[in-house]
Amino acid sequence: MESFFDFYDLHTTSDDLSANYSKSQNNRKCRFCDKTPLDVSFNNKPHIIPELFGRNNITSNFECDECNKLFQNYETDTATMIQHYLALLRIKTKRGVPNFQSKKEQGNYATTIADGQINFGSNIEDYQFNDEEKTLTINFRTKRFCPFFVYKVFLKMGICLLSEDEIKENEHYFDFLNSEEPITNGLQVWTTYRYMLKTKYHLVPNINLYRAKKTIIKNDAFPEYILLINFSNIVFQFFLPLSKKNVTEYKSDLALRLHMYPSFVLDDITRLKQIEVHNMDLSEKNKVSITDKVVLHYQQRDRLV
Ligand SMILES: [Zn+2]
Repeated sequence: MESFFDFYDLHTTSDDLSANYSKSQNNRKCRFCDKTPLDVSFNNKPHIIPELFGRNNITSNFECDECNKLFQNYETDTATMIQHYLALLRIKTKRGVPNFQSKKEQGNYATTIADGQINFGSNIEDYQFNDEEKTLTINFRTKRFCPFFVYKVFLKMGICLLSEDEIKENEHYFDFLNSEEPITNGLQVWTTYRYMLKTKYHLVPNINLYRAKKTIIKNDAFPEYILLINFSNIVFQFFLPLSKKNVTEYKSDLALRLHMYPSFVLDDITRLKQIEVHNMDLSEKNKVSITDKVVLHYQQRDRLV
């Protein structure tokens, strides 16, 4: 069977990066706006993996304070989308372990997670015990967030893992990153895959950039760069926009192939009963709430009489 690794190689991983930020470095330039210390300050310590995904020390010297501030808005929406995972597994972020409060209908009490404790409020239909399987299935309704802002946060992380030369070659990525509206010119892949690990989780987040070994095989065109974002019990697979190489090679008889990373290999496969992958469309600019079904396993349920 064909595998993701037949088509893609690991190109850059955040595991090889570290706390690069140095306040005293002089000859720097912001990767996102091209400005230098003559125009902007570089006093904030910018994270390549925003700490909303979990505490980490992977920082850079190529992001100015203005761009850092601009991106904080987008990061707030991204945090809204994911905070129930972090709250459940008690993953520490910059502001400690986040609490979660679900979106609620009028008159209902919200489901909350605080200090690792789940309180179901009045949403009884949102949780189901299965005593035979020893599972508890919970529906989490996130508060409203803007998927397009999440797209920007993912794209920025991908750009951070490109080399200077690759960035020069793919300057159009910045048009997509800086645009206020989703640009629909066919070069962006709006679908992102989300996989929920069932048996393991990442205490510290990491991101990996994969690059296509060949961008064309027979009639299939492969997006040159794919980003894997691992945090908590979640893996996101994000396709960077079509690269300069992809665009140069384009022919009308080619079909774009979005190959899925086998995230379940990160799990304990012997304990998996099923593999579920969700697609999300990140082109939506209106705020949305998503309902996430999370399955928890338990040893024993105490009977409350
Ligand atoms: Zn900047």
